[in-house]
Amino acid sequence: MDNFPGSGKITHSFFHKPRGAGKFLLQMRVLRVALEVPVAKLFDYLCDDTLPAEAGDRVVVAFGARERVGVVVEVGDGSVVASARLKPVTRVLADAPRLSPEWLEQMRFLSTYYQRPLGETVAGSLPPRLRSLKPLPKKRKLAQEEGAPERFVAGPAPNAAQTEAIEKVAAVLGTFRPFLLHGVTGSGKTEVYLRLIARAVASGRQALALVPEIGLTPQLEARFRQAFPGARISVLHSALEDTARTHAWLDAARGEAHIVLGTRLAVLTPMPRLGLVVVDEEHDPSFKQQEGLRYSGRDAAIQRAKLAGCPVVLGTATPSLETWQNARAGRYELLTLPERAVPGARLPAVRTVDLRTEIVEHGLAKTVLEAIRTRLARGEQSLVFINRRGYAPVLACEACGWAAGCQRCSARLVLHASDQRLRCHHCGAEEAIPRACPTCGNVDLKPLGRGTQRVEETLAGLFPAARILRIDRDNSRKRGELARTLEGIGRGEGDILVGTQLLAKGHDFPNLTLVCVLNADSSLLSTDYRSAERLFATLAQVGGRSGRREQPGEVLVQTRFPGHPMYQALLRHDYAGFAASQLAEREDAGFPPFVFEAALRAEATELAVTMAFLRAAARLLPTPDGVRIYDPVPHVITRRAGYERAQLVVQSHSRPVLQAFLAEWNAALPATAPGGLRWHLDVDPIEFD
Ligand SMILES: [Zn+2]
Ligand SMILES: [Zn+2]
Repeated sequence: MDNFPGSGKITHSFFHKPRGAGKFLLQMRVLRVALEVPVAKLFDYLCDDTLPAEAGDRVVVAFGARERVGVVVEVGDGSVVASARLKPVTRVLADAPRLSPEWLEQMRFLSTYYQRPLGETVAGSLPPRLRSLKPLPKKRKLAQEEGAPERFVAGPAPNAAQTEAIEKVAAVLGTFRPFLLHGVTGSGKTEVYLRLIARAVASGRQALALVPEIGLTPQLEARFRQAFPGARISVLHSALEDTARTHAWLDAARGEAHIVLGTRLAVLTPMPRLGLVVVDEEHDPSFKQQEGLRYSGRDAAIQRAKLAGCPVVLGTATPSLETWQNARAGRYELLTLPERAVPGARLPAVRTVDLRTEIVEHGLAKTVLEAIRTRLARGEQSLVFINRRGYAPVLACEACGWAAGCQRCSARLVLHASDQRLRCHHCGAEEAIPRACPTCGNVDLKPLGRGTQRVEETLAGLFPAARILRIDRDNSRKRGELARTLEGIGRGEGDILVGTQLLAKGHDFPNLTLVCVLNADSSLLSTDYRSAERLFATLAQVGGRSGRREQPGEVLVQTRFPGHPMYQALLRHDYAGFAASQLAEREDAGFPPFVFEAALRAEATELAVTMAFLRAAARLLPTPDGVRIYDPVPHVITRRAGYERAQLVVQSHSRPVLQAFLAEWNAALPATAPGGLRWHLDVDPIEFD
C-alpha cells in the first residue's frame, strides 16, 4: 500500500468554506481522489470534519472548469501540494454503498500489477453511471420471489466424480483455495457450480460466476434462474444498457444480489459477502482485456478470492497451460471429471480426414459430405466449423496477381457476398467490390479461399432440401440474436449449422451428432507459440458439442497433416499428454509459464519512428540481473488503421524482479515517447499478432 506523504495535522483558519464555516478552526483532511483523466496521479482535495468523507466514498469535485465524480482512495493530513492551492470537495455522494477497503485493495493490486495509474483503474472499474453526475436510478424493490435464495431446484443427481468435486470445495467455504475443475466436455461442470453456489448462498454468502463471452450469459442465466427461483441474480457485462447495468452493480455492492453472473468486468464488482468464485472456461482468451487496464479476468478472480478469503473454482475441459502447470505444481488443487454426465453418453469419436488423398469438392472432402448425408437421413444435426467469416478471404486477379488490400492495414480485404462489400477485419474499413482489376483492367476477379458464407452457399447447392443455419459475428450482432439462434438449435432447428468460434463454446445441442472442422491447419502453421494450445482447446470444445446424449458423436477434422502430434492427442482425447509435451517444449524454449513476460507495444505513422522508440526504450534503463529484453519486432500485420506497429518482449524467471523493473520502466518511458506515438505495456500478454 502506498504511504501517504506528509505528517501531522494541519488546521486552516484561513480557508473559507462556502458554507461560511470560516470563523471556526476546523480540522482539515486531505482526500486523495481517483479521477477518470489521462494523468497518472491522484488529485488532492480538502475536506473538513463536517463532511463525513472516507476512503471508498464517491465525491463531486471541481476539476478545471467542470465538476467530476471521483473516488476517495486515501484520507490523510498532508499534501505535497501547498494547502492554500487545494480546493475543497464539493460534496460527498451517499447514494451508493461506500467502496470497501477490500475493493480498494483489489484496485491497488491491479494498478500495480498491470502498470496502469490507480486513478484510471479505480474510475474504469465502475459502471459509467457511477462516475457521472447523473443521479443514480431509484432503488429497485425486491421482487417477492427474490427473498428465498436457499430454494434450490437441483438437476440430475451428481455422479461420484461430481460429488467428490463438490464436497472438496464445499469443505473449505470460508477459506481461500484455488481449484482446477478439469472435466471433459459434457461432464456436468455446470451442475457442480450450481450445487456449490447453492451451498454458498444457503450459508448467507454471495457467489460470483464468470463466463468468457457475453453470448454465453443468457444460456447460463436461464440455468441459474431455474436452479435458484428465489435468489436475486445480477447479470453484468459491457453490452448491458446503462440503467440495467447500474442496478445490477448496485444490487451486488449492497450485498442484496445473491449471485453475480457476468463477463470479466464482473470481477471488479464490489460484493461485501463474497464466498465463492467460479470461472467457467478459464482457458478462454476473452478473459484478457485488450485495452486500457489489460487485466486477466481469471487471474483477477484468483486475487479477488484471496482477498475475500474464499475458494475459487476454475472450470474447463482444456485448461490453459498456465493453470495446468499451477495444478501440477500443487498450487491449485486438481478436481477431475473424467466422464460425460449423461448415463450412456461417451466422448465423440475423433478422426482426421486426409486432404492429400481424399476427393475434395469445393473444399469439402468426400468423407465429410457422406457423413453429413447420413445425419440428414437420420434427422440429426451436423455442424461445419470454419473459423473464418465472410465469403472469401481474398479477392484476386488471376491475370496479373493483384489482390484487394486494405488502404490502412497490411492486410487483405475479405469478400462479403451477402451485401457485396469488401471488408477489413482488422480496422473495419469497407469498400465496394471493384468492377475490374485496378492494375490490368481484367473484369474476371476471383474469390480465393473460403469463409462461412461460401461454405453455406456450397452446402445449400449440395443439400437443397436441408435447413442450413450460419452463425458468425456478421449475423449475430443484434442484442439477443445469437442467444435466440442458439436456443433454436438446441430445440432442433437447422439440419446443418455453419459457424465460427461462436458456436464452439459451452453450448448444449442434444441432437447434434457430427462436427466437421474445415481449416484447422492454418492455425497449426502460425508462428505464435500458443497456437497449438489454442487449436487443441478449440477443437476439443467444438468437437465436444456432439454426442452429448445417447447417440454417439463423431468429429471429422480435414487436414494435410494427419500425423501431427496435436491431432494425434486430440484423437485420443489425451489432454494431459498434449499438455505435457507442450509444457516440455515451452520449458526448453523459455516461454511462459516457465518465465514471466510483458510486452511493450508501440505504433506510429512511420515504422522507423516506432522502431526507434522501442530501441531507445530497450536501452533506457540498465537491464537488471534476471531480466531479459528482446529486440523489437514489427507485428505480423504491421500496419493497422494507418499505424505501423511493433513490440518488444521483456522476460524474467522471477515475477517480483520483472514487476520491479516494469514499475521503474513505466515511469521513465513517457519522456522517451515522441509526439504522435502511442505505446502501452501489456503484462502477461497472450496476443502477439
Ligand atoms: Zn489484374
Ligand atoms: Zn484495415
